[in-house]
Amino acid sequence: MAPERITVTDGKLEVPDKPIIPFIEGDGIGADITSASMVVWNAAVKKAYGGKKRIEWKEIYAGEKGFDKTGSYLPDETVEAIREYVVAIKGPLTTPVGGGFRSLNVTLRQVLDLYACVRPVSYVRGVPSPMKHPEKLDVVVFRENTEDVYSGIEWEQGTPDARKIIDFIGSEMGKPIRADSGVGIKPISITGTKRLVRKAIEHAISKNRSSVTLVHKGNIMKYTEGAFKEWGYELAAQEYRDRVITESELWDRVIADDGVTPTTEEGAFAHLRGGRPAGDPGDRIVIKDRIADQMFQQVLLRPDEYAVLALPNLNGDYLSDACAAQVGGLGMAPGANIGDYTALFEATHGTAPKYRNMDKVNPGSLLLSGVMMLEYLGWNEAAQGIRDALEKTILNKTVTYDLARQLEGVEPVKTSELARAIVDNLP
Ligand code: NAP
Repeated sequence: MAPERITVTDGKLEVPDKPIIPFIEGDGIGADITSASMVVWNAAVKKAYGGKKRIEWKEIYAGEKGFDKTGSYLPDETVEAIREYVVAIKGPLTTPVGGGFRSLNVTLRQVLDLYACVRPVSYVRGVPSPMKHPEKLDVVVFRENTEDVYSGIEWEQGTPDARKIIDFIGSEMGKPIRADSGVGIKPISITGTKRLVRKAIEHAISKNRSSVTLVHKGNIMKYTEGAFKEWGYELAAQEYRDRVITESELWDRVIADDGVTPTTEEGAFAHLRGGRPAGDPGDRIVIKDRIADQMFQQVLLRPDEYAVLALPNLNGDYLSDACAAQVGGLGMAPGANIGDYTALFEATHGTAPKYRNMDKVNPGSLLLSGVMMLEYLGWNEAAQGIRDALEKTILNKTVTYDLARQLEGVEPVKTSELARAIVDNLP
């Protein structure tokens, strides 16, 4: 059968046996990690499906290669190809100075409306970690990608626009801002929040995860972060009432007659638990919330109490990197930016230009992003094969320099050698 496009029919992804998948090689170390990862992805798919399934890779251009080939760092054809082929994967990109972009990555997320940044964090055995029990953390972070203080609405200190906004907020809104301030805006909407939380709950349902935690700083920023929490709970109750239970309901917590004091009323929500005792959610997903600063402690102290996390943009950025560090760092952390259907999988680290073309760095982040992509396609056998082979390879202490320097007496292998070892270990 000839290679075909992935399509979306009745809200579902239709994946042919030979899907065409565009890839952006990326700048700096992009070429090294892309070629190494591709060797592994292709071998795993071949091994899992005996040639029945195969990815038809289609190179598309962005970053320096985009500029060399087309005169643009982000050619329109590249954006169009990702839209048309629905699923794509990319290496890291340098943001050109003076190229007219704040960041190529941010631009891609905005123009394709990839509103959920999805970062699974789980431990690969054998990877050096600062934690005693790194395996206890197994979370998927859903970070809102389009709003919050990252929306790019800000004014530089001392400019006429900064003065204008400071004057307006002072005189019209009665909220004085120090005159020598720079100013940024933090919009968080019902639309942005609900579509992100919906994705997190859908993920929990499809992967059988026990909880979705809304992480926010709503105790201080009530109308943005606090609203994120409220809208998240509202969405869960409106669209998933028969699948979810809130933490309050789980423990029969109600508000007393005075309308404010939380109290416990035994059996108040037993009907949602199918008659089970308080604390037993049965097969319902528990929806809970945590204040962001407390959540940074929770992932260290009680990591196994969390499964899926949903956050606004800024806190999501911080927490996903902090979680990645717990299981051994960014060199191995996969990620994806996903819209309603369009999904762009990517390495989470940058271009590490000093290692360019040295066949030296760890391809783990891009490789595992490709594993996420295979799972997104429903090709779980190939995905699991790579996970198993990667773990076996690392347990054998076949690792690149970044992991080798944290292990005693281990000589590093090259990027391409690691890829070959993983292929040899495919089940
Ligand atoms: P970086 O490229 O991530 O590199 C920082 C350090 O992280 C490297 O020097 C290296 O540490 C380590 N590292 C990164 N990737 C690694 C890998 N695959 N294997 C092993 N170690 C790895 O961050 P940066 O130097 O701040 O940024 C460089 C460029 O990347 C910038 O132009 C930035 O804009 C861009 N960037 C792009 C993306 C993206 O496309 N998604 C994301 C972030 C940054 P050691 O020096 O300790 O060996």
